[in-house]
Amino acid sequence: MKKKLSVIVSCFNEEEVIPYFYKEFVKEVKKINDLDYELIFVDDGSKDKTFDIIKSLRKEDKKIRYISFSRNFGKEAAMMAGLQASTGDFVTLMDADLQDPPALLSTMYDYIKNEGYDCVGTRRVTRKGEPIVRSFFARLFYKLINKMSKVEMVDGARDFRLMNRRMVDAIVSMKEYNRYSKGIFSFVGFKTKWLEYENIERVAGTTKWNFWKLFKYAVEGIVGFSTFPLILSSIIGILFCLVSFIMLIIMFIKSVFIHTAISSLFTLLTVLFGICGIQLFIMGIIGIYLSKIYLETKNRPIYVVKETEADLDD
Ligand code: UDP
Ligand code: MG
Repeated sequence: MKKKLSVIVSCFNEEEVIPYFYKEFVKEVKKINDLDYELIFVDDGSKDKTFDIIKSLRKEDKKIRYISFSRNFGKEAAMMAGLQASTGDFVTLMDADLQDPPALLSTMYDYIKNEGYDCVGTRRVTRKGEPIVRSFFARLFYKLINKMSKVEMVDGARDFRLMNRRMVDAIVSMKEYNRYSKGIFSFVGFKTKWLEYENIERVAGTTKWNFWKLFKYAVEGIVGFSTFPLILSSIIGILFCLVSFIMLIIMFIKSVFIHTAISSLFTLLTVLFGICGIQLFIMGIIGIYLSKIYLETKNRPIYVVKETEADLDD
């Protein structure tokens, strides 16, 4: 029996692009001869005709499945719903706007089939067509988060990827409510091949992102995959204590060896740095405990298995 590919497309107000996407997708997916496929549209509470279009496509093509949300829950939720509903041996996540070219699908599948990769991800190497300020902050964000988080975040990585069932199951087993997929994909591991391509602009419609939304998304990434901000106060606290200690030594030398008067402002500042330092330091200690509780509540898998001897016997 042929293996099956599940393709998940999250859509939020995409009435203009879905017909283009569908046409292009079918043309490309038919080139992969040894795979059956299902196309799952996740309508993320669209307010335009997106859902009507999806329904009318389904009437014609039974390979189409759909999930429609009661309101807009965001792309992360849409991707999770699609992954949970998928039944294929391989799963792809795609945008509806053709920024993720369906033409890459067969190349991606080849890597998995012939070269033993579990996942083929895509990253754009240029940010052509994007405002300069947005690119600048995006780069800064990736530098920052990779310093703070143990999980590697790949700059320019898109959600467009082809994964095997093992990897999809691992992703779905991460039930955390605040989902940051770029982190989750890295967290579960697996052998990933990166395909690089130049940024492509969407065929029609407009992007759902603005600067504020991107900023919140960046914060989501940092908070979700790093507990460093929780111990930041300890570091500042230690610095303050150090300053206070140096000032104390200066005071000691002045009064014991040089016999000069110490200004009351200087004394006050020494005490202030000392007390603030201790308080900040202890807040950081509380932060460490808090981070442990935080990670426990996420209930992430302790490990993810790639293979056992049972797979060899298959
Ligand atoms: N999307 C979604 N829910 C949202 C916002 C976006 O399902 O709340 C979908 C959208 O329809 C598109 C994909 O996520 O298929 C990527 O969105 P967009 O093209 O606006 O993002 P960009 O490519 O500009 O990063
Ligand atoms: Mg897009």
